[in-house]
Amino acid sequence: MRPNFPAPKRYRAVLRHSRELAPETMHLEWEVTSGGRFDFLAGQFISMVLRHHGQELTRAYSIASAPDDGRRFDLCLNRVRGGVFSNYLCDLAPGAEMEFSGPHGFFVVQQPLPARLVFLATGTGIAPIRGMLHDLLGRGLPESTQAWLIFGARYPETILYRTEFEQLAGQHRNFHFVPTLSRPPADWNGARGYVQEQLRLRFGGTRDFAAYICGLKAMVDDVRAILKNEFGLDRKQIHYEKYD
Ligand SMILES: Cc1cc2nc3c(=O)[nH]c(=O)nc-3n(C[C@H](O)[C@H](O)[C@H](O)COP(=O)(O)OP(=O)(O)OC[C@H]3O[C@@H](n4cnc5c(N)ncnc54)[C@H](O)[C@@H]3O)c2cc1C
Repeated sequence: MRPNFPAPKRYRAVLRHSRELAPETMHLEWEVTSGGRFDFLAGQFISMVLRHHGQELTRAYSIASAPDDGRRFDLCLNRVRGGVFSNYLCDLAPGAEMEFSGPHGFFVVQQPLPARLVFLATGTGIAPIRGMLHDLLGRGLPESTQAWLIFGARYPETILYRTEFEQLAGQHRNFHFVPTLSRPPADWNGARGYVQEQLRLRFGGTRDFAAYICGLKAMVDDVRAILKNEFGLDRKQIHYEKYD
C-alpha cells in the first residue's frame, strides 16, 4: 500500500542542539522556524542548502527522527574528509539557521507489516532507520511483527545510538538489537563480522521478511544481491537508500 507522501517545500530551521555520537559523527537537533508545518514520513530525507562562494550547494540528509509535532527533526552525519557540506554542518553552533527543502524520498516502512522486519545499517545509514524504529515502536509495534536491527560498526565506540537502541530492546520484546563489530576488542561478547555475515547467520534459508537497508553503496548493493540471489527475496521485499 503506497503511503501519502507530503509535498516537498522550502523551510528554514535553527540548530537547537548538537552532540558528538562518535569520533567524526554528530547528532543535530533542529527546529523549523519558517515555511509552516514540516510534515514527513519516517525514513525520508531533506535537501540542505548552503551558499558557498556565490554558489548554491545542496546535499541530501536523512531525517534521523520520527515525525513529531511538525516543527522538529534530527540529523545524524559524519565528517567526510575534504567534504564541504558535512564539515560545515558538523561545525555549526546552536542558534545557526539553515535553509532546506523536503521531505524527499520513498524509503519508508510499507504497510501492512510482515511478520518479520530486518533493518540493516552501517555508519550514518542508521539515520532513517532510527526514525523508522522510533515511529514503529512509538506507535506500538504489533505483537505479530518481530523487528531486528543489525548495525555494523568497526569498534564499540562507533555503535551509534547504542544506549538508546539497547533501551528500546529492553522495553519492546519484539525489537532485537544486533550491533556487529568488524574489529571487535578481545572482551567483546556480541556479534562479530560484517552485517552480511549476521544476515546469513540469522536469516539464511528464510525469505518471509522485509528488509530495509541503508548505508554506503558497496554495503547496500552487496546486501541486496545476497537477499535476491541467495535468499530468493522478491524485489518488493527489499527497500534501500544509498548515500553515494
Ligand atoms: C538520500 C541521501 C541521504 C543521505 N543522508 C545522509 C545522512 O543522513 N548522513 C550523512 O552523513 N550523509 C548522508 N548522505 C550523504 C550526504 O548527502 C553528502 O554526500 C555527504 O555529507 C558529503 O558531502 P560533502 O559536501 O561533505 O562532501 P563532498 O564535497 O560532496 O565530497 C567530498 C569527497 O568525499 C566523497 N564522499 C561523498 N560522500 C561521502 C560519504 N558519505 N562517505 C565517504 N566519502 C564520501 C566524494 O566522492 C568526494 O570525493 C546522504 C546522501 C543521500 C543521497
